[in-house]
Amino acid sequence: MEAKVTFNVDRCKGCGLCVAVCPKKIVELDMNATNRKGYHPAGVTDITQCIACASCAKICPDSIITVEKF
Ligand code: SF4
Ligand code: SF4
Repeated sequence: MEAKVTFNVDRCKGCGLCVAVCPKKIVELDMNATNRKGYHPAGVTDITQCIACASCAKICPDSIITVEKF
């Protein structure tokens, strides 16, 4: 299975909920980046490990994560 996880990076508030909930521990805040709101945005480190469970997308308070599986 292949998965694709898309973040609306500029709307992320860096709350870390998606980081905490990912069962594969592949969601991290990117400390090297700052988005338009001034936060370190979340992203996936290793998409090949993603099981497309969509836990990250469900927990995001601002619904900025989209999970697709192929
Ligand atoms: S879909 Fe599941 S495994 Fe993939 S990044 Fe989100 S929480 Fe992690
Ligand atoms: S849960 Fe949403 S707002 Fe919070 S860090 Fe993750 S993507 Fe950003």
